[in-house]
Amino acid sequence: MSASTFEQVNSFFDEAADRLQLPLGMRDMLKRPWRELQVQLPVRMDSGEVKVFTGYRVQHNGARGPYKGGVRYHPDADLEEVRALSSLMTWKTALVNIPYGGAKGGVQVDPRQLSENELNRLTRRYTQSIEHIIAPNRDIAAPDLGTNAQTMAWMMDAYGQIQGHSPAIVTGKPVELGGSLGREAATGRGVFYILQEAAADRGITFGDITVVIQGFGNVGSWAAKIIHAAGIKVIAVSSVDGGTYNRDGVDIIELDQYQRESGGVSGFSGGDDISNTDLLELECDVLIPAAIDNVINSDNAANIKAQLVLEAANHPTTPEADRILAERAIEVLPDILVNAGGVIVSYFEWTQNLQEFRWEEQRVNSELYRIIINAYREV
Ligand code: NAD
Repeated sequence: MSASTFEQVNSFFDEAADRLQLPLGMRDMLKRPWRELQVQLPVRMDSGEVKVFTGYRVQHNGARGPYKGGVRYHPDADLEEVRALSSLMTWKTALVNIPYGGAKGGVQVDPRQLSENELNRLTRRYTQSIEHIIAPNRDIAAPDLGTNAQTMAWMMDAYGQIQGHSPAIVTGKPVELGGSLGREAATGRGVFYILQEAAADRGITFGDITVVIQGFGNVGSWAAKIIHAAGIKVIAVSSVDGGTYNRDGVDIIELDQYQRESGGVSGFSGGDDISNTDLLELECDVLIPAAIDNVINSDNAANIKAQLVLEAANHPTTPEADRILAERAIEVLPDILVNAGGVIVSYFEWTQNLQEFRWEEQRVNSELYRIIINAYREV
């Protein structure tokens, strides 16, 4: 049987723990989650029938501050996956040195199959079911795969109905409800800052590089827009149903508009259709997986042609693939660094909420730059 995502994340942890010669008891404490909650979520569908979903909140480690982590809506979001993602949050917040622990939430659901009203009812039920273990100083949620600012607005409202107005209970909410300027773009912007720095360190001329991005959701689309605006060629982009490829560079602004109208990126007239499998193996300088877990694995690692992989998604590379890429001298910059822009600006949003104060976007971006580049240098 192949290793679960949690076991894979722990195998990366063990490598680090070996180097640090951490005692066994300490390893055990740092590996296992502090608390795991699984909840049943009965939801009345638009048809009138009741459907039951399963939700999770895993609080991995809170030694450095309140638990912090996104909420994922995905058919594969089971306890093992949520555990793995909660553990990554512990290492991410520590690496970038912000005062949080690590947590993650999830609901096993395909959000594309639910109407807006059904998603609203599901999110409220989920929030009510985990309400007793979250609080602005205990555990703070954020968007992740399959959730967005609207989901956070519903969570904030459902929590507020029980505890009173509490904007600091979630980050990544709409700016009108206390969200931070710059939060929506923050993860993609952080990816760009790392790309800029990594290219400079390796003597790669910025104007000449080609980039491939898997995923055109929050992280992938913002990374693509900011990279494109800097004059770098993004030659292929995909979403769940497939991608688009143009050797001369995809016009990301037009593609963004096309996705708004069509719901995806395949069929775009400014490029040729390409499958997600072929996209990962394209000839390019930088590959940015920004969609789901385990996409670079033992089946395709030998065929990856990029020089540099920036892990914008969480856990896109399995440990086996990581070894194959290392043998082939393909450098992988890890998720806990590359996608930390989201949690860094979530931290700014939370502090703004607690202080009832708003920062200008320029301040958000420059503080993000300072923190993520310091972390890059440490790594
Ligand atoms: P999203 O739901 O906004 O977008 C996901 C994108 O991936 C969409 O384009 C979707 O079509 C595509 N996708 C879904 N399944 C796919 C598949 N099987 N193959 C190829 N593409 C697929 O999610 P997001 O918030 O952009 O998150 C993407 C990744 O980044 C996740 O791993 C998430 O944990 C991580 N992340 C997100 C944030 C954040 O701030 N949103 C922060 C840190 C890390």
